[in-house]
Amino acid sequence: MHISICLLPGDGIGPEIVAQTVKVLDAVNARFGHTISTQTALIGGAAIDATGVPLPEATVNACKKADAVLLGAVGGPKWDGIERDIRPERGLLGIRKALGLFANLRPALLFPELASASFLRPDIVARGIHIMVVRELTGGIYFGEPKGFEEREGEQAAFNTMVYRKSEVERIARIGFETAMKRDKRLCNVDKANVLEVSQLWRATVVAMAREYPEVELTHMYVDNAAMQLVRDPSQFDVIVTGNLFGDILSDEAAMLTGSIGMLPSASLGTTSPFLYEPIHGSAPDIAGQDKANPLATILSLAMMFRHSFELETEAVAIEEAVRQVLKAGYRTGDIMEDGGTLVGGEKMGDLVAEKMG
Ligand code: NAD
Repeated sequence: MHISICLLPGDGIGPEIVAQTVKVLDAVNARFGHTISTQTALIGGAAIDATGVPLPEATVNACKKADAVLLGAVGGPKWDGIERDIRPERGLLGIRKALGLFANLRPALLFPELASASFLRPDIVARGIHIMVVRELTGGIYFGEPKGFEEREGEQAAFNTMVYRKSEVERIARIGFETAMKRDKRLCNVDKANVLEVSQLWRATVVAMAREYPEVELTHMYVDNAAMQLVRDPSQFDVIVTGNLFGDILSDEAAMLTGSIGMLPSASLGTTSPFLYEPIHGSAPDIAGQDKANPLATILSLAMMFRHSFELETEAVAIEEAVRQVLKAGYRTGDIMEDGGTLVGGEKMGDLVAEKMG
């Protein structure tokens, strides 16, 4: 199978973690006999330095031609003073928009080997954390119109609009159901249907779609309760589907249950490929260029790419298993270091995972 991936290393630790992930990709090629090719394009601060803009046209074209996109991270203090419209982060928003990516998948998976990194009580962690948050990414209150500032009865006021069209809910709900079908077949819809009309439409749409997925057990939870349940007993969740605002908050909360930002991958999906894969962390300028960055979140993003873009589950599981083996053997980068672990740099971590793939 011939596959092409566009790499967007970006800024800070981005190039380091992407380089480690390419080692793993090469190992997948060798083991499974694929000819996966890569090409690299500019985004973020690196693109600003080279071209004056955070998302050059050439990058958009290179991404569109590829089967999938792997991003490192963008941003850093060097570009903080730049005017808002051409900041590095604009590159990220721009590429998501250009590729029509409306669904963000963020797994919160606690590797048993890293259980002590969780902020939760050991007895809660012992029940396991393996959640997938499916968040709508391009609608809802962050984008709804009208919005703005105005004067109301002589006083300053500000307002936003939370709006979803049925078709927007349908397409994200479908991703929720399809994701559940590939996992434990349990989908929890999170909304605020007891208060918000937009949530009532949301819920009715999800319920209607459930008929197409009789194997999936669908439940509903109000967002305030979901926030509580995530810390009370995260083991109860398989897949969560929710809107942009609620998903923004809950996916960060779910991520923190695992305690280690350097371990968490993500996928942004649309209707047609290419989709985008990236670690959830940023460019970590404080450790850039010191071989301290943990590449595992990016390597696990590659595993998601195999699963969601190429439907190559065996390869995805092989990557995840290689990561698990390396952790089991006690190797740790600084961010996940614990008593008795063997401290390694990012380069070595990449080598170890690639070796385990062999
Ligand atoms: P950050 O995620 O970059 O870093 C937060 C902390 O976690 C830092 O102490 C960092 O050293 C550590 N960390 C992050 N990733 C790590 C890894 N792989 N291995 C080891 N340690 C890791 O968040 P921040 O400091 O708030 O932001 C830094 C820059 O990144 C800013 O310019 C911000 O705008 C940008 N950012 C980019 C993205 C993205 O590209 N998707 C996301 C968030 C922030």
